[in-house]
Amino acid sequence: MGTRKGPFNDIWKDTNVLNDTVEIIDHEVHTKIFAEDGREFIIYTDLNRWEEYLCKFAPEDSVKIKKMCSDMKKSAFLQPFSDPAGLRKIGSSVTLMLKMMPVMVLFMKYGRKSCDEYFSKLGFKNESLNYFFNSIYGSHDFSALAFIMMFAWFNQKNAGYLIGGSLPMAKRMTSRYLDLGGKLRTRSRVTKIIVENNMAKGVILSDGTEIKADYVISAADGHSTIFEMLGGKYVNKKISNAYEKWELFTPIVQVSFGINKKIDSEIPVEMWLIRDQMIGRTKTKNGYSIMNYGFDHTMSPEGKSVIVMRFDSPWELWKDIDDKEYKREKEQIEKDSKTILEKHYPGISDSVEVCDVATPITDVSYTGVWKGSYEGFMPSSKNLMDNLHSTIPGLKKFYMAGQWLFPGGGLPPAGQSGKWAIQYICKEERTGFKTK
Ligand SMILES: Cc1cc2nc3c(=O)[nH]c(=O)nc-3n(C[C@H](O)[C@H](O)[C@H](O)COP(=O)(O)OP(=O)(O)OC[C@H]3O[C@@H](n4cnc5c(N)ncnc54)[C@H](O)[C@@H]3O)c2cc1C
Repeated sequence: MGTRKGPFNDIWKDTNVLNDTVEIIDHEVHTKIFAEDGREFIIYTDLNRWEEYLCKFAPEDSVKIKKMCSDMKKSAFLQPFSDPAGLRKIGSSVTLMLKMMPVMVLFMKYGRKSCDEYFSKLGFKNESLNYFFNSIYGSHDFSALAFIMMFAWFNQKNAGYLIGGSLPMAKRMTSRYLDLGGKLRTRSRVTKIIVENNMAKGVILSDGTEIKADYVISAADGHSTIFEMLGGKYVNKKISNAYEKWELFTPIVQVSFGINKKIDSEIPVEMWLIRDQMIGRTKTKNGYSIMNYGFDHTMSPEGKSVIVMRFDSPWELWKDIDDKEYKREKEQIEKDSKTILEKHYPGISDSVEVCDVATPITDVSYTGVWKGSYEGFMPSSKNLMDNLHSTIPGLKKFYMAGQWLFPGGGLPPAGQSGKWAIQYICKEERTGFKTK
């Protein structure tokens, strides 16, 4: 989000995630979905085109489809706040609120509704339309508002794909930080945040090294920051309620195939709603997706391809797995995934040169993310309007940043919360905040 304009775009430019050399692709098709019985369904990123397609798909529901697409278009008025609560200028807040009036109505109507409730209220008659919407968005308490708003970002071509993917993006961000004089110490796990008189004073690393600091900002996993690094001593009702009750994203397994031939695809992502298929020990509840990275020339050498298969895999299957079982499970996943790939691309197995299986355990070991929830709290009918604050009650000189502050998670709010933490510190220090 924010590849073209708005406050997220400003953050991406300030942090060198976006610069003049970065190529952005806005796909025409978001996803093509296949049901078990062969029915197909397309999600277009352009809302006029999608509306036209949906009206042809289910002519009997044209009026309701237009209503849904109109809600989605209205949500384009939503503007993320540039500054954090408490530091917004009254004039600019009022102007922003006025601009957002059309979307306020949506907030009031759907802010506490799930997709299930939204679809029931719309009351589509077409069985296939109901089937596809419910299969993709209705299986959890997924926020109706999050569903509606998501498509406005794509429609405005403001949620593109950065050629090269996430590694070059992280490297650009790192180089900007280092150029500004920032110091980076990697492979250094923080085990404890030093607190004296309810004031953060620094961190202790796993090798015992103590690093003193005037302020501590934790951009690490939210749960381990609050309950391990701070020992659970600074928690209020809202925080404990969130970590106890809010639903998390189901972790994913990602199987990446390096293929020794060119495989073209016009569709970036296909979703196959094949239920109860066993991949390793996971029974696919929501099927699996296949992503052909043919649209990104940096992902494989000339004449070769990268195809990625992803599926949800509940944390319960991974949390107690031992090393031996884990090795076996990864081998089984590779085998089963290859068999599935072969069904979609007959004869491909002989051309698979490399296969990488990344599991929820991989995510946890690289990032420490709680229960492998790669986007934190699921945005639901209960929490979408309830962000957590970047300060912790009773603890001074400490801020949090990252996905765990905002249900729905993702990179834009993570980046934004980092900026906000610095803005709060500038206020405490009575120094002006400037980005360039
Ligand atoms: C396959 C996949 C696809 C995704 N696609 C998208 C997408 O298209 N768009 C989107 O917006 N989001 C996407 N996400 C989600 C996105 O990656 C996360 O929401 C985002 O990275 C969260 O940022 P964060 O800074 O909060 O946490 P992280 O990115 O997890 O960063 C936390 C950092 O803290 C470090 N850390 C943790 N514990 C400690 C410790 N004790 N001491 C020191 N360091 C520590 C970790 O090593 C890590 O570097 C995707 C995620 C996955 C897995």
